[in-house]
Amino acid sequence: MPVASHQLNRVLHPVVDFEGRDLHIHRRSQHHDPKVWQVRYPGQPLPEWEDIARSKGFRIHARVRDKNHLALECLSCGGLTAQRVFALRTARIRCEDCASQKRSTLADTIGLEFIERDPADHQYAFYRAACGHRIRRQREFIDRVADGVCQVRCEICLQDKERAEAEARGWEWQGPDPDGNDNYRLYRHSCGHDQRIARANMKFGQCDCAGCGESWSSKPSFLYLFRIRIPDKGLDCVKFGYSGRPDKRLRHQLSLPKSAKSDVLRTVAIKTGHAACRLEKSAHARLRRRFPECVVPPERYVGLINVSSEIYSPALLPKLQRLLDEIEQQQSAA
Ligand SMILES: [Zn+2]
Ligand SMILES: [Zn+2]
Ligand SMILES: [Zn+2]
Repeated sequence: MPVASHQLNRVLHPVVDFEGRDLHIHRRSQHHDPKVWQVRYPGQPLPEWEDIARSKGFRIHARVRDKNHLALECLSCGGLTAQRVFALRTARIRCEDCASQKRSTLADTIGLEFIERDPADHQYAFYRAACGHRIRRQREFIDRVADGVCQVRCEICLQDKERAEAEARGWEWQGPDPDGNDNYRLYRHSCGHDQRIARANMKFGQCDCAGCGESWSSKPSFLYLFRIRIPDKGLDCVKFGYSGRPDKRLRHQLSLPKSAKSDVLRTVAIKTGHAACRLEKSAHARLRRRFPECVVPPERYVGLINVSSEIYSPALLPKLQRLLDEIEQQQSAA
């Protein structure tokens, strides 16, 4: 590439050195030797060009390259952008310094750091996500996120989460759905059978294997109580739920931060996953209704615990323990 790129953070556009200053040139001009842009073209610009430039927020800094090109200086930031005289007359002119500054500020506000343009496709650029991974996105993506139309989601982190979810259920994540449905993935059961399963069903452990006939709803399950403390976030809470493998649920699926301290306080064996699911759902409904003050609002743990509800204050522990006592008695009586 004949053009120097500078200030990685800010500039999506190629620049050349013009008398010691950065001159932005159009992407389509990149294949020219940068030296053509470093030549001042003799003679004064026409007065009417000055008027047009001023009306578009620029002044003419110099004629460059040949009789058809100008170096325009942005009146608001002082940046230099090369343009054809024809474009100055007929088109909307934009200052590349202002534009890249705006993009980078936008990226900052949504927690992304601009790394570089994708040299293979100028519609795309690479960004550093908050998790530290490098992601590739369309440049307009930044605007869409800033407008709240879509979210920054790191595919690498998402895949790690999905792998952990599958592992905790005795399945192995294989890849995207071979039939192309975004809500499905391909998984391999511990028996070796490959199967398409909705990601949401895998997440909640509701998947039957067509290979060996193992059914989640008839497999034994557990109700559990976890205590989760994240001291540096000032979070101390209790999670109540059901799982075929509570220890795995706690260790792999909740995606707790490194600073978290977590304990399995109690597990109660339930005959089937189906029964556990039913007991858990009705318990949550009752708890929410009777002790709304003990329900921790999701915004307190979003990004810290990979669940969207079912988190309670430790003040509810005596009530939760009593609830599990009752369920345990019913189970042994049945
Ligand atoms: Zn500018
Ligand atoms: Zn990531
Ligand atoms: Zn199987």
